[in-house]
Amino acid sequence: MRLIIIANRLPIKLGRSAGRVVFKRSEGGLATGLASLHAGFEIHWIGWPGTHFDSEMEQGHVTALLSRHSFHPVFLSQEQVEDYYEGYCNNIIWPLCHYFFAYIQYDQKALTAYREVNRAFFEAAKDLIQPGDRVWVQDYQLMLLPGMLREAFPDLSIGYFHHIPFPSYELFRVLPERAEILRGLLGADLIGFHTHDYMRHFISAAYRTLGLNCELDEIRFVDRLVQVNAFPMGIDFNAYNQAPKRTQVQAYCKTFRQQLGVQKLVLSVDRLDYSKGVLHRLKGFASALERYPELLEKVSLLMLLVPSRATVPEYAELKKKIDQTIGELNGLYATPNWTPVHYYYRSFSPDRLMALYHVSDIALVTPLRDGMNLVAKEYVAAKRDTPGVLILSERAGASIELTDALLVNPNDIEAIGDAIAAAVLMPEEEQLARLRRMQSLLARQNVDKWAADYIEALDVIRERNCVLREARIGDAHLQEIKQRYTAARKRLLILDYDGTLAPLRQQPEQAVPEARLVEILRRLSSMPGSTVAVCSGRDRETLDGWLGNLPVLLAAEHGAFYKEEGVWHSVTQKFPVWTQEILDVLERTTSQTPGSRVEKKQTALVWHYRNSDAWLADLREKQLINALMPLCARMDLHIMRGNKVVEIKCSNQNKGTEVRRLVSKDQYDFILAAGDDVTDEDMFSVLPPDAVTIRVGDFSQTARYSVGSQTEMLNFLEALARQEENAG
Ligand code: UDP
Repeated sequence: MRLIIIANRLPIKLGRSAGRVVFKRSEGGLATGLASLHAGFEIHWIGWPGTHFDSEMEQGHVTALLSRHSFHPVFLSQEQVEDYYEGYCNNIIWPLCHYFFAYIQYDQKALTAYREVNRAFFEAAKDLIQPGDRVWVQDYQLMLLPGMLREAFPDLSIGYFHHIPFPSYELFRVLPERAEILRGLLGADLIGFHTHDYMRHFISAAYRTLGLNCELDEIRFVDRLVQVNAFPMGIDFNAYNQAPKRTQVQAYCKTFRQQLGVQKLVLSVDRLDYSKGVLHRLKGFASALERYPELLEKVSLLMLLVPSRATVPEYAELKKKIDQTIGELNGLYATPNWTPVHYYYRSFSPDRLMALYHVSDIALVTPLRDGMNLVAKEYVAAKRDTPGVLILSERAGASIELTDALLVNPNDIEAIGDAIAAAVLMPEEEQLARLRRMQSLLARQNVDKWAADYIEALDVIRERNCVLREARIGDAHLQEIKQRYTAARKRLLILDYDGTLAPLRQQPEQAVPEARLVEILRRLSSMPGSTVAVCSGRDRETLDGWLGNLPVLLAAEHGAFYKEEGVWHSVTQKFPVWTQEILDVLERTTSQTPGSRVEKKQTALVWHYRNSDAWLADLREKQLINALMPLCARMDLHIMRGNKVVEIKCSNQNKGTEVRRLVSKDQYDFILAAGDDVTDEDMFSVLPPDAVTIRVGDFSQTARYSVGSQTEMLNFLEALARQEENAG
């Protein structure tokens, strides 16, 4: 089994030795987690190698070298890196997803480069992909890639994982290309996030931006299900937990303790980034010193800031402010025996970092926004059985799992100060008990489990999509149906109108039949032995106006009326009398839901909400049904949810009763029914098992087949008409 990981960067470091290009593997969360899957998978990586190679010869050499180890490089030009990576990813998506709206530097050139680079990754992937492969796309640099892959490989198993926060719809909608990005992501079968909040925001953005049908954690997109779920990424727990037993790490621990010589050490570790809340944290530490003087000369903050994007003006400015704040703080509080803040602007080797984790009494992890934050988890693991307290921002993804940390709002400076004081005073038994609980969770939910859980869920959703795909009418099905159709002596075709024969329109009166449809219906119904019935929820006048001249049977208002030999018949004489109470409820709902409206038919009242905001309509629909339920129960009326409609009607009539009536009129040896809505399920469920039942544009519990769209349905009917004529 093959698993192809596509990430912005390959997990390698390239260098030169004696004029030759050499590389070594770099260990990171993802690379480590996937290593655990090695037993069951042949893993390939596609990504940017992180270095520029101008000459094609050198690129060829690097490709040959890396591909021997299943690393497949995507070469990017300097300009592409600037516009795609710095421009689009870091100046637009990063601030957007971290709620730094004002930092977004919108630039069309950056978007163009983003599309271009996603396409370059696609090109690299397409030659590698083989049937049966799983492809797992990583993170916000490649959000268009799942869609590109899906277009080229409809059957491919595609996963996507978003490693940073996903913002609320209100923020996401500022992105001009929001729909394109969402469609790109929805190319995946499974979209993973670190927390259920990001997942919730994504689903909300998908259904409000694209008007998609979403049910719990599933989005129906074109002809597939896309599952959205939370998979909090873990760490390589054992590596951190066992580290303090290693001689090298122990040596570093000893040095740190000697050098730092303070009773309580507070540790802060981040990349330089505005999302990390470093200035707020420094102010929080200052607040602790100011309001708890007993901490003076007893507590020091060790701030490790890893350089990042230092040439970008915002980052350079932030760095300047951090330097200045630390300078002021030390200037204000330092004594000959005590430095309040030890400041390192560089990165530490893994062993030194693990030693720092182990010796620190408190870890102060207070990002303003952070997808997960691994430092928090690494600290807890590396403490082993020594006391320690984690102070954690409630806006880090890790806070969902690490509930035994002291959780703080990173904007609340005094709360940070109070948490530091509380951590200093916390009894050791409590510290150990909290750590133990968190360690047991991290040991279980480690990075191996994260990767395995994700792949398992990907396989489950893929399996379901395979079943759905098998139900879709393909060439083989079409051939078989055509043969049965031609061989039959008496055929009955029952067709829903809106969404099946005609596309759904913003305004219902716009759905006038096109010339092509009229022609198809004429051809189908004029063949000897064929009966065509259009069974719709529309009223009699509309159907008559649109299709009255054709030799087709008509049924209006879901079968309450039917037309045969030019005469309309009514199934019931008992028409509902709409009470003022019901009309008032509908009126109120309509006035509270812009874009919605009420349609009054003889046997039904319909509330249409296709043109309303999806979220609001969803809320109002539930409220409407709740309000109508007691009224309708009293009057023996039926409430029915359809495609963007709620219908109130007599309970004794539905499309199923009309279909039963049609079927009983003759000995048909071929019956076909097609419809796009829940009301059409009533038709499917009363038909014999050998009937050809087709759900258009959606999946069905009762229909045998599905087609992706109304256009496909029309093509299918046209093919049947042609078949018949050829046979004739
Ligand atoms: N880290 C490192 N060297 C350092 C400081 C930090 O390798 O000198 C690592 C740290 O162990 C952690 C990662 O950098 O795994 C930071 O991950 P996190 O999720 O906390 O933040 P990110 O930088 O991904 O936003």
